[in-house]
Amino acid sequence: MKTWWKGRKYILAAVCLCLLAGAAAPRPARPAVPAKPAQQTDGPLTGYTVLVDAGHGGTDGGAKARDSGVWEKDINLKVAAALKEALEQSGARVIMTRETDMEYSRGKREDLTARLNLGQQGNADLLVSVHMNEYRSRSESGPQVFYRAGEARSRLLAGTIQQAMIQALKPAKERAAMAGDYFMLSLSIPSVLVECGFLSNAAEEKLLLTEDYQRRVAQAIRDGIVEYASLQIVETGAEES
Ligand SMILES: [Zn+2]
Repeated sequence: MKTWWKGRKYILAAVCLCLLAGAAAPRPARPAVPAKPAQQTDGPLTGYTVLVDAGHGGTDGGAKARDSGVWEKDINLKVAAALKEALEQSGARVIMTRETDMEYSRGKREDLTARLNLGQQGNADLLVSVHMNEYRSRSESGPQVFYRAGEARSRLLAGTIQQAMIQALKPAKERAAMAGDYFMLSLSIPSVLVECGFLSNAAEEKLLLTEDYQRRVAQAIRDGIVEYASLQIVETGAEES
């Protein structure tokens, strides 16, 4: 594991091992003249384009659930699909990085860059990357949302999603949104990485494997995004130099 915690040594370093630290990651330029398709459904997220990333895929399984042996990549895909549905019901346009068990490249950075490019090409306003956590101690549990340090809008988005997840899922352990230096968070749009729960915790693993809980997780993430949107601070389509 890289030193992406940057001195926050008191913090539990329990995240997916397969995520690259991205301190020096290049930030690809956004397309000059993005076009936005018309929305089909009216709702609180009408006008928003959300890039939904199901973490890992293909030869990169991510974390392995401790009891069932199910790979993180497969659970991510199910939660991401439920999230797409929930977001579309709220009027958002959704771009998925993947909808099958695949990878863009066996090189981790190339794979993540291809995912980020999809968001740029589609002129996404927000990014949500879906993951499952693990830790050597089986007692750790609870969803946790990560954002890039110094990004105020991402921090706010992470906070509203974290709060919505606590409210909807009532986890035994309530975590706080936290800064994390992930390559996947390197676009200049509000971006979060959601660790939906711990596959190393017996009770949480069981929950995360059920369709009902996957849907509740997805709806909680959507609720957090709706709350964020209600604050009306998203600069949709704003360019950063
Ligand atoms: Zn992961």
